[in-house]
Parts: sequence; structure tokens; C-alpha cells
Amino acid sequence: MDDALVEQAKEAKVEELSSLEEGSLVDLKGWVYVKSHHGGMVFVRLRDSTGLVQVVFKKNVVGKEKLELAEKLTRESSIRVIGAVHFDKRAPGGVEVHAKDFEVIGSAPSDYPIRPGVGVSVMLDYRHLHLRGVKMTSVWKVYSEMLKAVREWFEQHGYYEVHVPIFVTAACEGGATLFEVSYFGRKAYLSQSAQMYLEAAIFSLEKVYCVQPSFRAEKSRTRRHLTEFWQVEAEVAFADMWDIIEIEEQLLSYVCQKLKERAWKHLRKFRKKFTPPEPPFPRIKYDEAVDILQSKGVEIEWGEDFGADEERVLSKEFDTPFFVTHYPRQCKAFYHKPDPSNPSVTLSVDMLAPEGYGEISGGGQRIDDYQELVESIKLFGLKVEDYGWYLDLRKYGSVPHSGFGIGLGRTLQWILKAPHIRDVVMFPRTINRVYP
Ligand code: ATP
Repeated sequence: MDDALVEQAKEAKVEELSSLEEGSLVDLKGWVYVKSHHGGMVFVRLRDSTGLVQVVFKKNVVGKEKLELAEKLTRESSIRVIGAVHFDKRAPGGVEVHAKDFEVIGSAPSDYPIRPGVGVSVMLDYRHLHLRGVKMTSVWKVYSEMLKAVREWFEQHGYYEVHVPIFVTAACEGGATLFEVSYFGRKAYLSQSAQMYLEAAIFSLEKVYCVQPSFRAEKSRTRRHLTEFWQVEAEVAFADMWDIIEIEEQLLSYVCQKLKERAWKHLRKFRKKFTPPEPPFPRIKYDEAVDILQSKGVEIEWGEDFGADEERVLSKEFDTPFFVTHYPRQCKAFYHKPDPSNPSVTLSVDMLAPEGYGEISGGGQRIDDYQELVESIKLFGLKVEDYGWYLDLRKYGSVPHSGFGIGLGRTLQWILKAPHIRDVVMFPRTINRVYP
């Protein structure tokens, strides 16, 4: 590389180029996305983390040797280019860079496996490479903005962020989906949810949340189940189910607004229109949901839980996220508080995304009475001794409290209208995929 040029050039990212002046000398680093050559000129679309720009290599500027090197550039080779910014309406994006010198940082063989026409399984086998794609990069950026907005909302509302264990000894969501691990010869499990530990934390901090992975040995192959997924979970002291509903709708509405403001250029690659939902979201009871489903010809009896099919039918009836409350006891885990006015149902609430997407969050009010919790544990066929510390929370100064968990993958799947949850998760883990 020409030292004098390197000295004069300003390090730049692709997205900044259009704000620079004609002729500005820039120092760009990135990867070869597409290359073509015509009559003594080589055109490379260079990709960096901020976008794509066309770089033009001319023989009379870079010299014969470098032009030959440019002609041999392969897809995904990483290069550094010193060149001048040039505005040209014909260039994609209206701006290009005329190379004055360049070097190859890391060359790539010509067998890059992600090529037009390859199938889904190849893309998943090579996810470590496929994730660099321009559209995939937009997914990761929307995800990152989403997390930023989630944290902002909690920060603005007086919550503390905490982290709780992944190695646990008791089930939160039922034994069937536990991943067992050997913990120095003892049996332990990977956490299905942070909830129980968040419940402990509210006795110190009152309003807490965490962003953590959950693990479930989901045997079902659906478009919305992973075996490892990340949730935002929150728990609030002195809050009932209705408080939780308001918190969830405010949070989701804030996150969607911020995505519209800050990430529309990425979102628009996935959907034509995005109207952030405004509180209050519709609320229906489980009983009404069953009536709707039966009226649509779905065979479901009161007391049965909704599966993917039921939720799809139900959520097609709405064009904004909505809540389903008061699920029967048998549909929910042991810790859900029975409704005092009708103990066959619980003060539980799921939030469902519209347009057929279905459940994106689950939560509700927890049983806060010691004896009631002991009886519930027994009723669900669980062992009271497995829940020793959890019961202590009801022994020492118990308070009414509620919480929820929103699945980040499911929420993003709805926002980006993705057919499958794995489309929006960087390294998806499913029943038959744990590599790469
Ligand atoms: P489902 O009935 O759809 O399997 P669930 O009722 O078991 O979900 P919760 O225990 O309430 O789910 O978990 C809270 C949230 O975590 C869900 O609303 C969803 O967004 C997300 N979630 C749960 N299980 C999975 C999974 N296997 N893969 C991806 N996200 C999940």
C-alpha cells in the first residue's frame, strides 16, 4: 500500500460515504460481495457492517499488477481500499469509491458455499457464513435495537437488571422439557425460565428484569419452538395480573415505536408497513377465546390448552397484539394463582401477536400464600421438598406479585414477518440442529 495515500486517507464506513464531499480520500475495510469486470475496469461491491458500496478499480490508476489482483478477487475475500468518493447517479446508492490502491487482507477460495439457489438446509449448515448476508445483517441489527429499547424502557421505569442461574435443580415449566446435566455427579437441569429466581429478587429490589437464555427439550417441530431461546423476564412486587398486562403493553409498544424510528431502513426489507401497536391492547378471557375458536370450526373443549394451530386461528382475528387471560388451572404451571372468584381458572395471561403468529409472552400472578402453594405443588404431582427455597419466599414476608416472560425470538419473528423462528436467531438450536 502507498504510505502517502494511507496517511492522507480518512478511515470510513460505507454508510458515511454519502455525507462526505466529492473527492474525499477514504480508507475502507470490508468483504467482496459481488465482482465484475469490463474493459480494463473491475467493479467490486464491497460490504462492511454498515452497507454496500461499489468500488471501481481502473488500470490507469491502480496499475497493471493491482488490476490483475482485483480481477482475481473472490467473493468474501477481505480487502482494504484507499480511494476517492465519487457521486454518480448510475452507481447503486448514488455514491461509489474510485480505488487508488488496495490490499487483500484475507483471501477466500472460490468455493463459497452460500450461492444463489442453495436450499434452507445448506444455509443452516453454513449459518456461520450465511449470517454475513445483507438481509441477515438487518435481522441482527433489528434484534440489537430491540434489546436496546427493552433495556431503555426498564431503565426509565425503575427496574433493576439482574442475572440468575442457568444450572437449576427444579422445573419451572414442567419436567417433560427439562435438559438434564451432570453437575459433578449430581443431577441438575438447564433453566427453563428465570422466573423463580426473579421472584426471590423482588424481595430485595421490588422491580427486576433479566435477559437470559432458557432451555427446553421441545420435541415438537414447529415454526416457533427452539430448544435454546432468549427471554426478557420481569417480576414485580405488589403487582397483580392487570398491572402486568399494562407493563407488557407499554413495553412492547415502546419497543415497536423505537424500532420504527431507528430501524425502519432494515424493517422495510421484511414488511411494507409497520404500525407500532398502542395500548390498551385488546383483552379477552380464555372462555371467549374458546368460543371464537369453536365458531371458526376448531375442535376444542374447555380446559384444553391452545397449541400452535389454535393460536394461529385466534390471532388471525386481530391486527394488533392482544391478551388472553384466565386460563384453566390444568393449562398452566403450578405457581399460577387461582382466581379467587373462580378457582378453576388462574390469574394468568398470555400475549399473542396478530396475523397468525400466536403467543409471544406468558405470565401472570403467582401464588403468594405458603399453604396454597404447598397444595398446588402436590396437586400437580410434584415433590414439595424440591421447592424448599421457593416456598421460603412465601414464609418470610410474602407479598402479592406477578411477572412475565417475553420471547425475543418469537417477538422478532412477528415483527419481521418471518416464516420460522430460526430465520431471526443467529445460531438456532432445534431438536435436530446443534451445529454450527
Ligand atoms: P408454548 O406454549 O408456545 O410452547 P409456553 O407457554 O411454554 O410456550 P412460556 O413458558 O410462557 O411459554 O414462555 C414465555 C415465552 O417464551 C413464550 O411466550 C415464548 O415467547 C417464549 N418461548 C417459550 N418456549 C419457547 C421455545 N421453545 N422456543 C422459543 N420461544 C419460546
